[in-house]
Amino acid sequence: MDCIVCKFGGTSLASVESIKKVCEIVKGNKNIKCVVVSAPGKRFKNDTKITDLLIKAFYSSSNNKKFSEIYQEIVKRYKEIIKGLGIKISLMHDFKELKKALKEAKDYDFVLSRGEYLCAKIIAKVLAFNFIDAKDIIKFDSMGNVDITASKTASLDFFNTENYFVVPGFYGEKKQKIKLFSRGGSDITGAIMAVLLKSKLYQNYTDVDGVFDVDPNVCKKARKIDSLNYQDLKLLANCGAQVLHADCIKFLQENNIVLNIKNTFNPSNFGTIVANKDKYNGVMLNLQKGLYFSVFKSNSISSNIESIRSILNQVKVIKIIEGLDCLCILANRELQEYKTCTKSVEIDVINILNLSYDKSVILFNVLSQLDQEILFLVKEDNSVCFGVNDGEKVLNHIYEKILTY
Ligand code: ASP
Repeated sequence: MDCIVCKFGGTSLASVESIKKVCEIVKGNKNIKCVVVSAPGKRFKNDTKITDLLIKAFYSSSNNKKFSEIYQEIVKRYKEIIKGLGIKISLMHDFKELKKALKEAKDYDFVLSRGEYLCAKIIAKVLAFNFIDAKDIIKFDSMGNVDITASKTASLDFFNTENYFVVPGFYGEKKQKIKLFSRGGSDITGAIMAVLLKSKLYQNYTDVDGVFDVDPNVCKKARKIDSLNYQDLKLLANCGAQVLHADCIKFLQENNIVLNIKNTFNPSNFGTIVANKDKYNGVMLNLQKGLYFSVFKSNSISSNIESIRSILNQVKVIKIIEGLDCLCILANRELQEYKTCTKSVEIDVINILNLSYDKSVILFNVLSQLDQEILFLVKEDNSVCFGVNDGEKVLNHIYEKILTY
């Protein structure tokens, strides 16, 4: 099936203007058959996300005045969106049900799920797509893990009869009750929908142009990474990159789905593409202080020669190291800065074999605390290779940390 699953995050659904942008994107591509939505997020800096308002209301149910203020604020936001979009939809029954659940303050998961549920109903109406409740297709097993087999069975009826639909993110069903994913979990819903629909492409729309090497809010020189593989994305997500929920990666990776992270507010930018290693052998990872580490597996060097060349054209190569089972190119991305730097950079390369993924993450954290220029990579066989200025000192420090962990 030629089908794209799209997920839109909270800022993309925060206001009437942003929802109009979402609709333009969806209507502009007939292959977008499934749209997963978050709850409306922040419209401006000090605004409160709907999910956070629901949490506040849940915990203030015993304080009548406070409760009714927050509840009214929630209802007002949805009503403003409905009015601004000029659609006819009555959510009276849903609001009543929400108010009752909030007052009872028993079912936290149900209450929080209403943020995405109400939003999905509205978006389905504007797009004239069908609304499918996530509880009817996303099933958890008794351990609380997503049960893909049960979800596949449950979704069959819907997929046979409906062509275009909107699904609320962030929750599914466990033993006939709503169960939430962790915060930011609509990304996971999107990934699961891509698996269920056998989609080859999952587009995750957010409010930044893609995955950045460093946090663009913190560092002005942050650069977008055009393409990377799932293993590196996991590494970045575990190291605090917030662009995507780390738990959705395994679904995409296992099913060989390509992920495209895009910006709702700048859709002409192609964003970041993430795929399995065999699709993208060349990887660029930014580590510290503007240094890039690019790695190409030796058996794919010739097929990658073009990509190596394009990288070499862009950056000043400091050193090329061969002889490990990969070719490492250490390069400085700030060409201007490099030109003024006369001293050549000597780098020791340390190769640690068979380090588990978890330990690699610890290693990465340890390394990033040291005042060193560090180049680091976890390779496919789980071995780790990195370059540092003062090899011996760093190595001792690392061994100590890893062995005592
Ligand atoms: N609305 C939920 C949250 O704020 C889930 C999501 O946006 O993905 O965490």
